[in-house]
Amino acid sequence: MRTVLPEPLAPLGELAANLRWVWDAQTRAVFAAVDERIWEAVDGDPVRLLGEVSVERLNDLRDDAAFLRRLGDAAESLRTYLTQPRWYQSLEGAPAGIAYFSAEYGITSALPQYSGGLGILAGDHLKTASDLGVPVIGVGLLYRHGYFSQSLSREGWQLERYPTMDPGGSPMSQLREADGSPVRVELRLPGDRTLVAHVWKAQVGRVPLLLLDAGHEGNDPALRDVTDRLYGGTTDHRLRQELLLGVGGVRAVRAYCRITGAPEPEVFHMNEGHAGFLGLERIREFVTERGLSFEEALEAARAGTVFTTHTPVPAGIDRFPRGLVLSHFTGDGTVPDIPVERIMALGTEDYPGGDPELFNMAVMGMRLAQRVNGVSLLHGAVSRRMFHGLWPGFDLDEVPITSVTNGVHAATWVADEAMELAQRTADPRELAQSRGWEQVREVSEKDLWDMRRTLRQRLVLEARRRLRASWKQRGATDAELGWIDDALDPDVLTIGFARRVPSYKRLTLMLRDRDRLKAMLLHPERPIQLVIAGKAHPADEGGKRLIQEIVRFSDDPEVRHRIVFLPDYDMALARVLVQGADVWLNNPLRPLEACGTSGMKVALNGGLNLSILDGWWDEWFDGSNGWAIPSADGIDDPDRRDALEASALYDLVGEQVAELFYDRDGGNLPSRWLEMVKHTLASLGPKVLATRMLRDYVSELYGPAAESARRLTGPDTAPVRELAAWKQRVVDAWPGVRIEHVEVAGVDAPQVGERAEVHASVRLGGLSTDDVSVEAVFGRVGEGDGLVKPARVALEPVRTDDSAVTFAGEMTLDRAGAFGYTVRVVPRHELLSGPAELGLVAYPEEPAGMLNGNLR
Ligand SMILES: *Cc1c(COP(=O)(O)O)cnc(C)c1O
Repeated sequence: MRTVLPEPLAPLGELAANLRWVWDAQTRAVFAAVDERIWEAVDGDPVRLLGEVSVERLNDLRDDAAFLRRLGDAAESLRTYLTQPRWYQSLEGAPAGIAYFSAEYGITSALPQYSGGLGILAGDHLKTASDLGVPVIGVGLLYRHGYFSQSLSREGWQLERYPTMDPGGSPMSQLREADGSPVRVELRLPGDRTLVAHVWKAQVGRVPLLLLDAGHEGNDPALRDVTDRLYGGTTDHRLRQELLLGVGGVRAVRAYCRITGAPEPEVFHMNEGHAGFLGLERIREFVTERGLSFEEALEAARAGTVFTTHTPVPAGIDRFPRGLVLSHFTGDGTVPDIPVERIMALGTEDYPGGDPELFNMAVMGMRLAQRVNGVSLLHGAVSRRMFHGLWPGFDLDEVPITSVTNGVHAATWVADEAMELAQRTADPRELAQSRGWEQVREVSEKDLWDMRRTLRQRLVLEARRRLRASWKQRGATDAELGWIDDALDPDVLTIGFARRVPSYKRLTLMLRDRDRLKAMLLHPERPIQLVIAGKAHPADEGGKRLIQEIVRFSDDPEVRHRIVFLPDYDMALARVLVQGADVWLNNPLRPLEACGTSGMKVALNGGLNLSILDGWWDEWFDGSNGWAIPSADGIDDPDRRDALEASALYDLVGEQVAELFYDRDGGNLPSRWLEMVKHTLASLGPKVLATRMLRDYVSELYGPAAESARRLTGPDTAPVRELAAWKQRVVDAWPGVRIEHVEVAGVDAPQVGERAEVHASVRLGGLSTDDVSVEAVFGRVGEGDGLVKPARVALEPVRTDDSAVTFAGEMTLDRAGAFGYTVRVVPRHELLSGPAELGLVAYPEEPAGMLNGNLR
């Protein structure tokens, strides 16, 4: 039930209905002032606050002029925020709309619709889009039981609870037709059944987030469960969720635009493979509404689609049994009008090492999106290797997967105290735009250290509160819990460590040598303390065992005041933790952490990172903004690798981190530590912000995708028909493309800096010289006779006789050492994203040559 607010307090309803309060301190302060006690009791959730506040209190506030003024200011600030032009509005020709699809969203702990990094990133993406004025429409599912909340048994075993969420009692509104009836999104399922989803809208600042909900009376009970839990249930269940997200999601976007008049998106962004089916629905639209063939519709949909892959862990990639997918698309299935064999081909792993029985959602994503990216530089490179099989014949660096490194939404993750300090030296708007971070060096050491102590102290108090609650839940009585009052110390070096618990994250690495860890925790002059949190997937018994190991270790009375495991890791706990930790520890198995973002949050709060060189840290660790744990990458024996890395970790913490933290000057300030903190803020501040990330997406992916889509499918569909026909012609002709002969002239005893003339005689199998690019490929010869990072030069047609065309050009021999070259032919068209797009390439049958020996 929603409370009816007296007229002058109506703006409270407006403020609660827009999730901007999550990252706006002014708005939260207004809510806190409504009733401090209830505000705490409802964990800072405005909708629940307004549901519980008493009528008497509301009547008092109605006559409280000071409160009404603050309320008016906050409401005015929201209206300004929603209507003023922002960064995006200054761009020309930028996409009119972008639909962003994700299976999970971490916006606030009050909406538990996320499990970990992927969801948090999606939440930060939407908030930042709002701040920058990027016209994103978010699309997801509404899980009635969300992700589980975690507690512990007496023995330290993870217990799961699935609280039920009532969308009516949440900051969401139902999307309705003009006549007031709920919008219905229909999805055909096998067995002649139709699932009907309703659509809820959460307003995230300027960005609407549409969530599809199957859990209503209009569905038969078996179908209501489709959106019951995040990542729960069977394979069948997950496939249906993904069909609803992708296919239903596009339909929800169409309904939203029809009803509100919002511009139709020009770009569709799949945040990970779960959303891949959206491409099929868009193909269906092009087929039925624009009269395109499947091939033409595929080109049209691809042009405006971006796919982001998020994991290099093979088990993390979504794959379904082919038979199951087939059963959903045959006959009168989910997207009739598309031949089922075409759909199946999109997800087939038809490359060496692929499994013919599986339908791979990432592979389909890459075939349905003309632009693909990973989420850090290293992850981009790892993904190019991982998916190389889709573009055989091309060098790794040509595999068309780029990267945009993740970032974090500062206003969500940075403590007010830290923000305030940074803003003393630099303009807040500049900081948000990634400028002015250098000036943070001018903050006084004392102020910086005081701020750090405030945040550490807050973490300690919150940790004690949670620890007590957890122990009571585990069956302890208050009389046994006196020790908690002294658990953790606001002046001890505090290391934070929190994550989901898949095995690659190695939750228990620090326990390798328990005696050594104990000695560091209890060190008489330079102790450390550890605050740990994390959830294991409900089906992951191994992960739960790891949690139990940590819990048992930290239950030991000898160390329990220096190491704590806090259950139920969520965004609220993450905030205090990333703000209060002096050091963030991250020890994944390199290179399995695609990016990681927790350490970025820590850096913005004046904490330091201690991490394996993986994900974002591999990219931005500069030798003095934290510490790199040496990774024993090359060692295959996992046990030995863990032992080596753990030992390096202990050495670093004991000898460098603790030493620096406790090295105090006359004013009891750790000057060298604070220098490192300042360097971290100055060097990482501008990079780790999600504003940087979003601007990268706009300029490198969204903008070019919209441009491609516009060129192909304006009012006139001729260009897309031509492109599809051209592609078909090239594919058909390709077996006849042959390089018959290659000749190099002009160098006898080659020297660095000289040029060599290349001639290649090529049969084009009916294609014209405009349809292809003929290139000399040359460079240093590495092990196995392959070329290392070769250079490429286009050759020009110089002569045509009977059936072959001679192409010629020059190579500049610019590197010493063994030198090799070859020639290749690739398709060429101005609307291709690059030479590898079609996966077609021809090399000479005889391997081409090696120039005489070594260059001097
Ligand atoms: C930031 C955050 C994550 C991401 O964690 P990484 O280990 O850095 O990928 C996960 N869960 C929560 C609650 C977070 O706040």
